[in-house]
Amino acid sequence: MENHYDAIVIGSGIGGLTTAVLLSKIYKQKVLVLEQHFEIGGQTHEFMRVKDGKKYHWDVGVHYIGDMKKGLLTRKIFDFITDRKMEWEKMADPHDIFIYPDIKFPQPSNPKSFQRDLINTFPAEEISIKQYFRDLKKASGWFQSFIMSKLIPIKFIGELMKYKNKSLALSTTKEYLDSRFKDQRLKAILCSIWGDYGVPPSESAFVIHSIVVRSYLYGAYYPVGGASSIAKNMVPAIERSGGKVLGRKKVNRIIIENNRAVGVEVNTKDSSEQYFAERIISDAGAYNTFINLLPENIKLQFRGDLKTDKLGISSNTLYVGLKESPEKFGIKGENMWIFTGYDHDKMYENSKNSDDIQLAFISFPSLKNPLAKSHTMEIISFTQYNKFSKWSDTKWLKRGSDYEAYKNDLSLKLLNFAEKHIPGIKDIIDYHELSTPLSMKHFTGWEKGSFYSYPATPDRFNNKAFSAKTPVKNLYLTGTDAGMLGVLGAMMGALFSTVKMKGLRSFMKIMKKVNE
Ligand SMILES: Cc1cc2nc3c(=O)[nH]c(=O)nc-3n(C[C@H](O)[C@H](O)[C@H](O)COP(=O)(O)OP(=O)(O)OC[C@H]3O[C@@H](n4cnc5c(N)ncnc54)[C@H](O)[C@@H]3O)c2cc1C
Repeated sequence: MENHYDAIVIGSGIGGLTTAVLLSKIYKQKVLVLEQHFEIGGQTHEFMRVKDGKKYHWDVGVHYIGDMKKGLLTRKIFDFITDRKMEWEKMADPHDIFIYPDIKFPQPSNPKSFQRDLINTFPAEEISIKQYFRDLKKASGWFQSFIMSKLIPIKFIGELMKYKNKSLALSTTKEYLDSRFKDQRLKAILCSIWGDYGVPPSESAFVIHSIVVRSYLYGAYYPVGGASSIAKNMVPAIERSGGKVLGRKKVNRIIIENNRAVGVEVNTKDSSEQYFAERIISDAGAYNTFINLLPENIKLQFRGDLKTDKLGISSNTLYVGLKESPEKFGIKGENMWIFTGYDHDKMYENSKNSDDIQLAFISFPSLKNPLAKSHTMEIISFTQYNKFSKWSDTKWLKRGSDYEAYKNDLSLKLLNFAEKHIPGIKDIIDYHELSTPLSMKHFTGWEKGSFYSYPATPDRFNNKAFSAKTPVKNLYLTGTDAGMLGVLGAMMGALFSTVKMKGLRSFMKIMKKVNE
């Protein structure tokens, strides 16, 4: 009985923890969460380095979250899963600044002002700009119908629900922008935050662009105390119900008996442990779950679609400790998106073939977190795993001097890029450390370090692999591949997963609890 639980969750990202909390708090279930990393939280985890007694903290996958205003459903769910113990700090307005070779465009934290500034800059395209805001609403509305169609058991009603605005939602972002706008600079500005969904305009579905852009229209929020406060405030609810959240437990396989998922196996250095439960829920993504954790003889219609060459983007992130506050450069905590041109697809293509920085995202965690004790900066640029594949068989911290030399070279390029746009920043740097797609794979388990999973192209929305319910009885997905990328997307994935497990009525039950 010691190894028997009501549910087992593989992975402690926001998706995995949310599923565990919903089952624990609402259904009083005993849930076991198994996490391969020594830190709990998946991409919401934080890490620290000490230099000369000074402690620097960085988040990994939480730079800003939209739709967190008090009273919104997403905020209510977040408050519920964190025992209403978390505070959120609203970011400076503007929250994002887009920097192009000859235009600097700050995005105000209000859709009316955003629209007004766009029209003032591109007056000839006023009508199309206004239509764009209406189309964002239509396309993201389609996503809600798409999700409802998956939750509703009657197939033809589901199909009808996702008919309206489907062609708009599933056109590519580039197709949409080319059909509406003339000025290349305007098109570029509108999709400046494509890095938030990891797919450049020619490949991304307009629906993902719309969801992400809309989520930041009223500004953005950051967790007070840093990203680690998310997991810290979720684990107690799981434990109160008799469950456990265990780190350093890499699941090696899902145990199948009579075509049902009945448990998982964790291999440690010198032993093998088995845990059993009525339901197994995986936050490890579709690729890991279906290809790495299930036996090959399990029939999956979509197995052929889950190829590693289709996996999405990864990043190089330079974590920087600063001797003093970056406020001296006039920065108030806003994110900076810096581009070397106006063609996002071309910049992305160039970055595949060259290490010269084409675009970068710079964020200042310490200016967003009122409890931060020392100042930090993160510089992120997008990259491909294959640039690092020659070290794929090496181990963390033992990848060799050529890897370290390559990392040093990349770090310098990122620092010089930042210095060009924030003159003087290099003078206040105390510490820096680069994470690559190999680090991402090591710490988060995502194959090829592709932390957004498979790219949000129009095809993704027709692929049955990305769904809370799997073809294997008692096996469910949660997180990104059950919902959508991003912290809120993965959290909503957990809600869909719970509704699939417990039936449509559970949606009302969860909403009632969330609204109490
Ligand atoms: C650089 C970067 C910046 C980002 N910025 C933002 C942002 O500003 N705002 C935003 O909303 N989102 C952002 N994101 C994305 C966001 O963090 C993720 O989309 C979201 O947290 C994913 O949650 P998840 O639960 O689906 O997966 P994860 O958080 O990746 O969790 C999956 C967990 O499963 C574990 N696991 C995998 N395999 C196994 C196994 N076999 N056994 C046990 N455990 C296993 C992993 O270790 C991991 O902990 C960013 C991501 C990155 C990388």
